[in-house]
Amino acid sequence: MSSMEKARADFPVLTQKIRGKNLVYLDSAATALKPWPVIERISLFNSYETANVHRGAHYLADQATRYFEESRAAVRDFVHARASEEIIFTKGATESLNLLAQSWGRVNLHANDEILLTRMEHHANIVPWQMVAQQTGAKIKVVELTPDGQLDRQDLARKLSPLTKVFAFTACSNTLGTINPVAELVSAAKAVGAITVVDGAQFVANHAVDVQAWGVDFFAFSGHKVFGPYGVGVLYGRQELLRSMPPYQGGGSMIAKVTFAETTYNESPFRFEAGTPNIEAVIALKPALEYVGKWGWAAIQEHENELVQKARAGLREIAGVRLFGPSQGTAPLVSFVIEGIHHSDVGQILDQENVAVRVGHHCTQPLMEVLGVTGTVRASFSVYNNTQDVELFLKAVAKAKEMLS
Ligand code: PMP
Repeated sequence: MSSMEKARADFPVLTQKIRGKNLVYLDSAATALKPWPVIERISLFNSYETANVHRGAHYLADQATRYFEESRAAVRDFVHARASEEIIFTKGATESLNLLAQSWGRVNLHANDEILLTRMEHHANIVPWQMVAQQTGAKIKVVELTPDGQLDRQDLARKLSPLTKVFAFTACSNTLGTINPVAELVSAAKAVGAITVVDGAQFVANHAVDVQAWGVDFFAFSGHKVFGPYGVGVLYGRQELLRSMPPYQGGGSMIAKVTFAETTYNESPFRFEAGTPNIEAVIALKPALEYVGKWGWAAIQEHENELVQKARAGLREIAGVRLFGPSQGTAPLVSFVIEGIHHSDVGQILDQENVAVRVGHHCTQPLMEVLGVTGTVRASFSVYNNTQDVELFLKAVAKAKEMLS
C-alpha cells in the first residue's frame, strides 16, 4: 500500500455511499475534492471570523485582513514569486486571463501585432485573446500539435516572430494531459521579445511551479483545481509589468483618491482587486496549498503516475478504444473514445456504475477539430484515488462497450 492511500480519509466526499455504493471519483481535472482542513477553514471563517478586509477598524476586520494577506504570501511561496505584490486574487483562472487580456492587452496590443496560442488551449485561454484582438486589431496565430499531442516545435519556430507580442500557452493540457516544457517555451518567446502567459490551471495540482526559474511574465490558476475553494484564483504577474498596467475593474479598494473629475488608483495588487473579494475562499486557499505540501510533489506524482499508467494499459486491452495524447509523461488523466459509440453514452453507463468522469469537448473545441471527434471521455486521477478505482473504471468501460456495441 502506497503512503498516499491514507489521503483518502482526508476527503469526506469519498466516505459516503452514492446509490448504496462507493464513489469512484475520476473527475479531478474538472475540480479536485476538498480535504477537511479546507472545509474546516471556510466554516471557521464563516462561523466566527466574518469580517471584510482592508477597511475595518475593529478586531475581526484586522484579523481577516491578516489571514487574507497570509494567504497571499502562501501563494507567493507556492509559485515562487519574488514578492506578495505580484499575486492578484481573482475568482479563477478564467478571470485571471480575462484581466490580463483586457488590462495588458488593450494597452499593449496594436493592429497586426500577433497573439500566439496553441491548438491545445482551453477556451479560457482563447476567447479573452480573441476579444482583445477584435478590440485592437491584433491577430491570433496558433501553434499546431504533433500526432501524439505534443507542441510541434517546428511550427512554433515558424510562428514565433518579432510580430509576436504575447505567447499564451497552457502548462498542461486538460484534454490530452500533455505537459509543456514551460522554461523552454518562455525562452523561445523572450528571444523574439514577446511576453509570456502560462495557464497553470491543470498543472498546479501535481507539479511545482517556479515563475522565477521559468522567467514567465504571467501565470494563472484556480483554487478549486488544487484542493481549494471555488471562487478564488490567482494571477501572478511580474511586478514591473503589473505596475504599468491599468485596472481591469473599477470600484472600492482599487483606488487611491476619487473625485467626480478623476480617480487615481491604488498600487498593485490592490489596483486589480476591486470590490469585496471572496474572503473565505482566499483564506482557505492557504490550507489547500499546505495540503499539497504535506505529501510533496514526488509522492504525488509517483502515486498518480502509477494509476494513470494502469488505466492506460487497461484501456489499450479493450478493442475499439482510441486513446488521445502522449502515452507517457502526462498529467494524471486519460482521454479516449470507443469507436462507434458516443462519448456521452459511455459517460452514462460509467455513471450508473458510480464512476464519475467527464465527457464532451472539455472546453477545447479547436483541439476536437483536429482530433476529428466531437468529444472524448476523460478520467482524471488524484491523490485520493487508488488501484481499485482504476479497476472499477476499466470494468465499467468494458461494460459500456459491451452494452453499447
Ligand atoms: N485552463 C485550463 C487548462 C483548464 O483546465 C481550466 C478549467 N477546466 C481553465 C483554464 C479554467 O479554469 P476555471 O474554470 O476554474 O476558471
